[in-house]
Amino acid sequence: MSRPIPGTVEVAVRHILSDKTTGILTRTRRITWKDSVFRVRRPASGTQSVELTCPVCDASLLAEVRTETRTRRTGAVLLVLAALSVVVFVAAFAYAVHEGGRTLPEGQSLPTAFPVSVVSVFVTFVAAPVLFLRGRRYNGVSMLDAPKPRRRHGIVPVRG
Ligand SMILES: [Zn+2]
Repeated sequence: MSRPIPGTVEVAVRHILSDKTTGILTRTRRITWKDSVFRVRRPASGTQSVELTCPVCDASLLAEVRTETRTRRTGAVLLVLAALSVVVFVAAFAYAVHEGGRTLPEGQSLPTAFPVSVVSVFVTFVAAPVLFLRGRRYNGVSMLDAPKPRRRHGIVPVRG
């Protein structure tokens, strides 16, 4: 792997070659792609748009690059949100188990916080790992615009 150069960031332009979903009972999604690595310069302040050309099909993609400081801050915020999701998940899960397992006196229904806690359990169960991975891999580069077959391209972080 190449060493990181200050003020720059490596990203890959991902060209999706094929995206097929096969099977009826058990669906299997098979995606093949080709990544082309680019090194883009970070702006001194604010954000900067850079144009990257996909070497596979010559499509030009517009990416937005943020400063190192903002990138680190956003990454940290995402990690904090991931940690909070874990806390909420544990609390909501404990509460749901506690309330759900209680034998209620006749005619009494579960408190309204019960469905809220069940929803929280599901939401945070999905959100926590997504936020964690996003925070870990956040590089401050996002795709702004791509030509028509937009979903056939992506800009992905390169692990340093
Ligand atoms: Zn392409």
